[in-house]
Amino acid sequence: MNNVAIIGAGPAGLSTALKLKELGVEATVFEEHEHIGEPVHCSVLISKKGLDELGTPPGESLLNEIKGAKIFSPNGTMLTVKKKETVAYVVDRKKFDQALVRKARLYNIHVATDTKVIDVRNNTLFVQTSGRGELRKAEYVVGADGANSTVRHLLGLNPPKESYVHTMQATCSGKFDDKMVQVHFGDFAKGFFAWVVPLSKERAKIGLGSTLGENVSENLKKFISEKFSGTRPFQYDSALIPCGAPLEGITKGNLALVGDAAFQTKATTGGGVVFGMKAGNVLGETIADVLKNKAQISDYEKRMEPLNKELKLHWKLRRYANSLRNEEIDSLFKKLKEKGIEEFLEKEGNMDEPGKFVGKLTTNPKYFFMMGTALKFLRS
Ligand SMILES: Cc1cc2nc3c(=O)[nH]c(=O)nc-3n(C[C@H](O)[C@H](O)[C@H](O)COP(=O)(O)OP(=O)(O)OC[C@H]3O[C@@H](n4cnc5c(N)ncnc54)[C@H](O)[C@@H]3O)c2cc1C
Repeated sequence: MNNVAIIGAGPAGLSTALKLKELGVEATVFEEHEHIGEPVHCSVLISKKGLDELGTPPGESLLNEIKGAKIFSPNGTMLTVKKKETVAYVVDRKKFDQALVRKARLYNIHVATDTKVIDVRNNTLFVQTSGRGELRKAEYVVGADGANSTVRHLLGLNPPKESYVHTMQATCSGKFDDKMVQVHFGDFAKGFFAWVVPLSKERAKIGLGSTLGENVSENLKKFISEKFSGTRPFQYDSALIPCGAPLEGITKGNLALVGDAAFQTKATTGGGVVFGMKAGNVLGETIADVLKNKAQISDYEKRMEPLNKELKLHWKLRRYANSLRNEEIDSLFKKLKEKGIEEFLEKEGNMDEPGKFVGKLTTNPKYFFMMGTALKFLRS
């Protein structure tokens, strides 16, 4: 019998395992893939502040450093937000996950690869290792099994299909401004946006996301050929991003969810690495308290409140953006530009915690013009 079984060796699961170990609790991590970090479905942009707070420098996974963003409305109005210092890292996601696994193994955490968890009944896990069925026992089971989580179904949580963004992404060669990411709004990416994340001056990930039902593959090919005709896409990947409020009811009996499985992703950008890792730390601390100090597993949800507050704000901002028609976004960009939003965001912008600047924005008379509609969402 293990103390804890963690399903999924992504950033959220591995952070949970490492925090448990730090607090003296043994955990085994089960990963269905043979090779950690594969396949890669990520644009690999991670906030510097977030990784600093986690004490996880990018190390040898670092590919590039980003200073700002160019954001385009549907008619091409551009907002540029650029800081003097690095705001985000572009990492090699495979190397990033592999470094976390190396750290886990260094601390004698068992990470069982090529081991898929098929079902969980109370303390029994039904696993398939290299195609062979086996039973494992654990007191607590953590579902860190990503956007298509099996454990989430076991908890009876089945978010509607509209809560996911379907993404398609291509690694492209061409010429890129390697210090700036790009964000494009338009019909090619309904309900989300298209992005360019430069890996270097010669390579970038260009992708887009749409609410389910759109032909993201066709839309991406068209987007690239129309806006980046000089680039050559050579490797495609496709995946889902959970895009909604963080789920409630993420603990039941001996089960708990973390990371994408719990919708702990920023609904504004789809980024989930930093929040998943922070939530992993909270869950690890809670389970250690449950085993040692008779806390309740449901305390995890209470302890998640500060992080959930920010995640809910991301979701409100996403709903607000999705409520606007193209012409409204164009006119909003024009007005915001006139009112100096670029300078404002240069000073106050924060990739992970919109709470830090939305408060200042709502009390600044220059931006009162947008409060009618925005407040409806922010207060909801
Ligand atoms: C196109 C795209 C771009 C993105 N770009 C960014 C970005 O730039 N920055 C950012 O921060 N985030 C980004 N994200 C989101 C980010 O990838 C996720 O939020 C993050 O990987 C979530 O971590 P996790 O540990 O919760 O889940 P995952 O990283 O998905 O890990 C889950 C693991 O569980 C394993 N697993 C699943 N089921 C089982 C099972 N039954 N048994 C055993 N193992 C199982 C999987 O193989 C996987 O390894 C992007 C996502 C997409 C789709």
